[in-house]
Amino acid sequence: LNQISTGDLFRNIASQDTALGNKIKETLASGNLVEDELVFQVLEDYLDNHNNTNGYIFDGFPRTLAQAEKLDIILEKRQQKIDFVFYLDVEKNILLKRITGRRLCKSCGAIYNVNIDSLKPKKDSICDKCDGNLYRRDDDNQESFEVRYQTYIEKTKPLIDYYRNKKVLFDIDGSVDKEYTLKQIESVIEKR
Ligand code: AMP
Repeated sequence: LNQISTGDLFRNIASQDTALGNKIKETLASGNLVEDELVFQVLEDYLDNHNNTNGYIFDGFPRTLAQAEKLDIILEKRQQKIDFVFYLDVEKNILLKRITGRRLCKSCGAIYNVNIDSLKPKKDSICDKCDGNLYRRDDDNQESFEVRYQTYIEKTKPLIDYYRNKKVLFDIDGSVDKEYTLKQIESVIEKR
């Protein structure tokens, strides 16, 4: 499956020193959502260039009801449909700890967490795998987190009912660790 993270697509645009790149960089750092129109421009462009696939994993998308409704229309046109929506349920205080501690490798993209012993890099700010430098996302600070969390409650949380009504939603306890989260997701897929 082809994994699409709209956040990654936007971070890529934000890294370019253009008017659009600078505008998106600001939106991302603030914790607010990018406007729907731009989301679909970027997404449809990506889909058109990556259609040689058995399907997609959307990560961080859709984020609003309007996006979910428009996605249904796009998929219908492509004679595709959503099989599973995984709701990774995690308490706010755990999210804050994960987000403020997250560090990423500039070279290979590996993810660490300085707030969680088992996920700390061996050397401060250096990647265990490739010796690359670690950095913190512009929006992984407490202030942006509060905006992101409120935006989630107001705009994204209603999608839980939207997809539950369509009977494609699966509740996953995301509060433990990556292995336990993955085990639950695999078990949902295997049962099908
Ligand atoms: P993420 O990497 O999923 O945490 O997304 C990082 C940021 O990218 C978000 O806080 C938004 O500013 C923007 N973003 C990512 N996906 C979307 C989306 N589907 N709709 C609007 N904004 C998005």
